[in-house]
Amino acid sequence: MKALVYHGPGKRSWEDKPKPQIQAPTDAIVRITKTTICGTDLHILKGDVPSVKAGRILGHEGVGVVEEVGSAVSSFKARDRVLISCITSCGKCEACKKGMYSHCESGGWILGNTIDGTQAEYVRIPYADNSLYGVPKTVDEDALVMLSDILPTGFECGVLNGQVKPGDKVAIVGAGPVGLAALLTAQFYSPAELILIDLDENRLAVAKTFGATASHGKPVSLKLEKLWAHNITLTTRLVDTVTTPMLLKTVVAGKLPPKKLITHQFRLDELMKAYDTFGNAAKEKALKVLLTAG
Ligand SMILES: [Zn+2]
Ligand SMILES: [Zn+2]
Repeated sequence: MKALVYHGPGKRSWEDKPKPQIQAPTDAIVRITKTTICGTDLHILKGDVPSVKAGRILGHEGVGVVEEVGSAVSSFKARDRVLISCITSCGKCEACKKGMYSHCESGGWILGNTIDGTQAEYVRIPYADNSLYGVPKTVDEDALVMLSDILPTGFECGVLNGQVKPGDKVAIVGAGPVGLAALLTAQFYSPAELILIDLDENRLAVAKTFGATASHGKPVSLKLEKLWAHNITLTTRLVDTVTTPMLLKTVVAGKLPPKKLITHQFRLDELMKAYDTFGNAAKEKALKVLLTAG
């Protein structure tokens, strides 16, 4: 099969790799129908993520069709349409029991990191029962790809961690795909004002069409010497994708328009070109680039 392979900082190629095989009874093999490129993939290519070794197939987002399942997989069978979560979850360890899938002892963010990822014709998904989501036949696959990572990331790390409430004034720093996902999902809570902060005029213009009420375009620095008396709470987290089933329902119901985040369409075998476009996001006015298997 063909796959996008990382060969060390600055080096990537679209090349032949062996088709993945079932390795554990809880695995599934998924034929990719749609995938995308994440900002994280660009960080990997810069050499910023040392856990990713040369030879790794990149990608942690996508939708596809189940090709084959291991003997212990009970929720999925061949030919099922599935959404692939960027976070793999065993469902059994202490972290998984608490809903903290990103800290799963044998999962977490492993796709396109410590195991081969989704920017390929086929991918092996460990713990398929907990790491895949079945999708209705009627729902648009383009929109679904946004549910692998950016929508749950924007919602869990931004909106839930930020404790957005009705009537709040919400400021989002960075109008990239995750910032825009936070902007879309913050609107579940009817904030009074949504302020997007970015240096890219195009992204701010897009933010306005997504419901931002004001925008801001200057650099910001964290003035702790002034902030200390303002009861500021800073929170950080990795996405757990625990909200994916809820977000999926809102997309299916047409309440959330994540497809608007897709600015460029390519064929799967044009992944190298798609990386050039996404790597030049400001010039190309790119948000999410979508790759579709031919
Ligand atoms: Zn990502
Ligand atoms: Zn686990």
